[in-house]
Amino acid sequence: MAKAFQGYEWDGMRDHYSLTIDDALWRKVSTNKANCLGKNCHYYRDCPFFIARREIENTEVVVSNHALVMAAMESDSVLPAAKDLLLVLDEGHHVPDVARDSLEMAGGITPAYVKAQMDSVIQLVATCMAQFPPKSPPRLTNPERLTAHIEEMIEQNAAFVAMSELFLHGEGQESEYRFPMGVMPEEMRQVCVRLHKLTDGLRGLTEYLSHDLGEKTGKHDVVRVHQALLRMSRAMGYLESKTQLWHLAALEKVSNAPVSKWLHREYREGQWRLSLHCAGIRVCDQLDRLLWRNVSHVVLTSATLRSLNSYQRLKELSGLDEEEGGSFYHAGFAFQPLSAGQAGDPKNAL
Ligand code: SF4
Repeated sequence: MAKAFQGYEWDGMRDHYSLTIDDALWRKVSTNKANCLGKNCHYYRDCPFFIARREIENTEVVVSNHALVMAAMESDSVLPAAKDLLLVLDEGHHVPDVARDSLEMAGGITPAYVKAQMDSVIQLVATCMAQFPPKSPPRLTNPERLTAHIEEMIEQNAAFVAMSELFLHGEGQESEYRFPMGVMPEEMRQVCVRLHKLTDGLRGLTEYLSHDLGEKTGKHDVVRVHQALLRMSRAMGYLESKTQLWHLAALEKVSNAPVSKWLHREYREGQWRLSLHCAGIRVCDQLDRLLWRNVSHVVLTSATLRSLNSYQRLKELSGLDEEEGGSFYHAGFAFQPLSAGQAGDPKNAL
């Protein structure tokens, strides 16, 4: 693979390689957002991912899967600006399911695990402040303030775990508990509200420091800056997902429907681990924010819905409605092309 890539016989895309690359091998040679240096990477210009991203800017048609479209809309990256898009979502009846998957979050809340993560954030911020101090450091970089902030996060997490244990079978057993209709006792929910605020504050600090480190490559030893940047980026990824988890846990409803919440305790790799899971059931508000109100023109097509002869279920799940500007067009079985007149306002057309 390295030979083919260096000899310009392969562009680095998994699907473009002459042989099938299995998942285990692909994991070894690929990376994710948290481990990517982006513009600070020495290989940025030749990186297959960023080359493809640059090409997308000048491409008229991009073929992608639903999950990537949702992720791109959420992070405002990869695809061209939403206002410049005409988005055609084939198999449109799957869109609410894909949105629901992206609204599902899970995270480890075992006290020892959380403490280890928080200790590494304290250490990382201290290293950053000692070696690459920002010009105007945020107040949370103050060591006493940061320690107090993190201690409260650890205490609140421990309080949440103590209350969770009341719902699970006795210690030393695998156990799962689903909160009926996603309703937690109010005391527990208030802990989630506080944890969301504290976690988001710390996430904001790592975001600031990541950005600041990215500006420092010309002034410091580039290898050390890159090491710090990678560690900060991983910490930010961890805190981003925890912020989202506590946010969902604190919500009573999303799109006017309950948020499913459950606890899971299992024995894995020699340790008992406790995790919290949250998943939105209805995703109308999320689709409204990411697609219907965000992208200039969206067309959903679905032969399955056509054969059902009804859009009622899709309307209910997706939040699309004629009264909100959506248009529904029932094509004949021998496909009749859609004229501009029939589409009406092409925004939100199906
Ligand atoms: S920019 Fe660098 S670190 Fe990021 S994916 Fe490309 S080669 Fe890897």
